[in-house]
Amino acid sequence: MQREASGGVSLSERQQRDFMSALALLAVLMQAATSLHLHAQPDQWPRALQADLGLGFALTLLVLTRVRALALGTLQKLVVGAVALWLVLNLASVIRTARPITSGVLIHMVLLALFAYTWLPARGAALLVGPAYVLLVLAATFSRAPDVPGLLLTGLVLPLTWYLTVHGRVVSGERARGVRLAALAATDPLTGCLNRRAGHSELLALAEQWAARPERLSVALCDLDHFKRINDTRGHEQGDEALAQVAQTLRAHLRAGDVVVRWGGEEFLLVLADLSPSEARAVLERALRGVRALQLAPGLGVTLSAGHATLAEAPEITALLRLADQRLFAAKGAGRDQLHSGQTTVTHAAHPPG
Ligand code: GH3
Ligand code: MG
Ligand code: MG
Repeated sequence: MQREASGGVSLSERQQRDFMSALALLAVLMQAATSLHLHAQPDQWPRALQADLGLGFALTLLVLTRVRALALGTLQKLVVGAVALWLVLNLASVIRTARPITSGVLIHMVLLALFAYTWLPARGAALLVGPAYVLLVLAATFSRAPDVPGLLLTGLVLPLTWYLTVHGRVVSGERARGVRLAALAATDPLTGCLNRRAGHSELLALAEQWAARPERLSVALCDLDHFKRINDTRGHEQGDEALAQVAQTLRAHLRAGDVVVRWGGEEFLLVLADLSPSEARAVLERALRGVRALQLAPGLGVTLSAGHATLAEAPEITALLRLADQRLFAAKGAGRDQLHSGQTTVTHAAHPPG
C-alpha cells in the first residue's frame, strides 16, 4: 500500500491486480465446490453444467488477471462483463426451468452493481444495473419460488451500492487531487527541486531522524559563480535554462534519496543523510565536478561554490545553515569553484588535491 501525504492509503496498480487475482481465485474455488456438489446429485445435472461453465469463466479471469499486457481498466471491464453475462445466463435458466430465485442469484445482482459502479463510468453502470434488475424481476415472475422479500431487499441495496461507491470515488478523487496539489506546492517549477519551504521541513525531519548520529547528516549550501554574467551576456532565458540544467546535474550526481532544494535565486541546498563527513564531501565534490563539466551552450560553462557542514558541528538547524553559509562565503572569497567544509583540507574543485 502507498501512504499518501494526506495520511490516506491507496492501492498501487500491482496491488489492485493482485486483489483481482485473489478474487478470481476465490471464484474458481467457489465454482469448483458448487460444481462438485451439483454433479453429486443426478437430478441437478443441467445446473451442474452451468456451474462448470462458471468455473471456466472464473479460470479464464484468473489467467487474464496475470496477463501484464492487459490494462487494468480493460480487466475491470472484463470482470463486469463476465458477472453480467453470468447473471443473464442464470436468469435465462430461471425463466426456462421456473427454478427458485436463490440467494446466489440475488448476491450476483449485488456483485454486478458493486463492480459496475466501482469500475465503469456512473452513467454506463446505471444503464447496466437498472435493466439487469428489471430482468431479475421478470425472471422472478416465471419462478416457482420467487423469494419476493429477497428481491425487494436487493432492490433497496442497489441504490445504496450506488451511493457508497460513487461517494468513495469522489473521496478518492479528492484525495488524489490533494496529493497532486501538495506535490505542486512543494516543488520549484523552474528546476523541479523542492522549494525552500518544503526543503526546510525535510531538513527538520531529517535532523530529528539523525539526532543520535549527527555526524551522518550533511548539508551543503551551493551558489552559482558569477551567475549574473550569464544573465547579462546571454539573457535571462538562458539563465533560467542554466539553472534547470544545474539542478538536473546535481540530482544526477547525488544518490536517489538525497535532497536537492532550490534555496534561493541561484542557490541550492543539498541534504545528504547516512554518510560520514568525508563520504559526503566526496559525493559533493563529484556533484561540483559534474556542474563544471556542463556545456550550457557552446563556450558557456558554469561553476559552483559550496559550504558543507554536518549536524554534529551545529545541532540546531539555524546554526547549521549559518555555518554552511559562512563556509560558502569562505569558498567564494578563496576564488570560487570549490567546496569548503569543517575539515582543515579545503578542496579546490578545479585543482583537486593529490
Ligand atoms: P557570485 O559568484 O558572487 O555568486 O556572483 P553572482 O553573479 O552569482 O551573484 P549575485 O548574487 O550578484 O547574482 C545572482 C544572480 O542570479 C542575480 C539574479 O539576476 C540571478 N538570478 C536569481 N534567480 C534567477 C532566476 O530565477 N533566473 C535567472 N535567469 N536568474 C536568476
Ligand atoms: Mg552566485
Ligand atoms: Mg547568490
